Amino acid sequence: MRALSVLVVTTLALALLPVLLIRAVWGRMNTGRWLEEELVVGRNGISIRQKSFAGLALGRRLPRLWHVLTGEYAWVGPRPVGKDDLSDLAIRDLVRLEARPGLVSLGTVRQAMGIAHDGIETLERATALEWRRRDSPALLVKALLTSLVSRRRTRQGAGFSLFGVEIDDRTMSETVTELIEAAEAKRNLRAAFVNPDCLNKAFQDDNYLTALHSADRVYADGIGLRIAASWHGHSLSDNVNGTDLFPRLCQEASRRGLSLYLLGARPGIAAAAAKAMRRANPSLQIAGTHHGYFRGEQSEDVCRQVSASGADLVLVAMGAPRQEIWLQRHHRSLGAPVVLGVGGLFDFYSGRIPRAPQAWRDLGLEWLFRLWREPSRLWKRYLIGNPLFLYRTVFAGRRDLMA
Ligand code: UDP
Repeated sequence: MRALSVLVVTTLALALLPVLLIRAVWGRMNTGRWLEEELVVGRNGISIRQKSFAGLALGRRLPRLWHVLTGEYAWVGPRPVGKDDLSDLAIRDLVRLEARPGLVSLGTVRQAMGIAHDGIETLERATALEWRRRDSPALLVKALLTSLVSRRRTRQGAGFSLFGVEIDDRTMSETVTELIEAAEAKRNLRAAFVNPDCLNKAFQDDNYLTALHSADRVYADGIGLRIAASWHGHSLSDNVNGTDLFPRLCQEASRRGLSLYLLGARPGIAAAAAKAMRRANPSLQIAGTHHGYFRGEQSEDVCRQVSASGADLVLVAMGAPRQEIWLQRHHRSLGAPVVLGVGGLFDFYSGRIPRAPQAWRDLGLEWLFRLWREPSRLWKRYLIGNPLFLYRTVFAGRRDLMA
């Protein structure tokens, strides 16, 4: 890794030589100095004389590449702590001193990727230790590419439409709040998540399209949607997927005394996922669980069981489009105000299928990990589906764009 870093820095410095020279001369002409130095604290409290070009113009931070070369800085890591700020550092933030400071902060990277669900400060603290050994120039390159793609902001906050499906733009915490508030107010809310595979299916399946049209919320799940949205000049606020939402929803539901019913997946899986969630949130109320392999004519019986449980929120994991179409038909018979189609997430939380490690998710490669684990089931979805989705985004989706 060290040799690779040296190679990357040297190549970058050579490629950027004219820019570096112009910026250095500009600083000198405007401030009388070539460089400025600030004392910051690195890993294990070592002092670093952090170098910047003089003056506040663009490119000020370029000399920090030098610190990557010397090994004092990592490519990605916590923000460096100024020597003067050291005494003000909260105890819980001391963990930042256990990792090498990053050229780019972890929070910035995950924000660019649309996965900074818990806010930058929390993220940096939580991941400083985890990243001590996992620095990666690849992550930096990916973050830069993603932020370039996401930079074309024209609209924000409103929804947008893709292949005739209206998609809501929400952050993860807004989503949790609106679901919990609807459950508390007993206001009906049916929500779906869509990823490229879902939109490919909706493109050909009118029943699914109708189910999505009539849903109260359709959340954008994953990097594919982010790319498609930005193609149409819309910068999505977040990546709102069921898998990351689930633990947050459970935590909030348990705080507010709301109960959940988990319906779907193979026998025993929903119950195992419920157990895992109760381990993390001991006061969480699980109203009941049921597998998702029942015949159409058994639906009424299943609805009766859910309704009798008195659940406030029902999570249905039977795969798209089955879960969305089923929920459209049966929402009213379930007795619960808030219902969500959540895909395969009980499999992850029950431990039946491992989820991609954080490093893969940071790189937007969760799909590749899933493909590697279940190639025969998923190759078509990803290897044909993803390019098809991008093709449709570029050539067919354009006419569907609306504010
Ligand atoms: N499933 C189900 N009933 C069915 C078909 C599937 O409960 O008739 C479950 C399956 O066991 C899995 C989930 O639905 O837990 C969907 O998995 P998939 O990987 O297709 O979901 P996605 O990738 O869309 O999240």
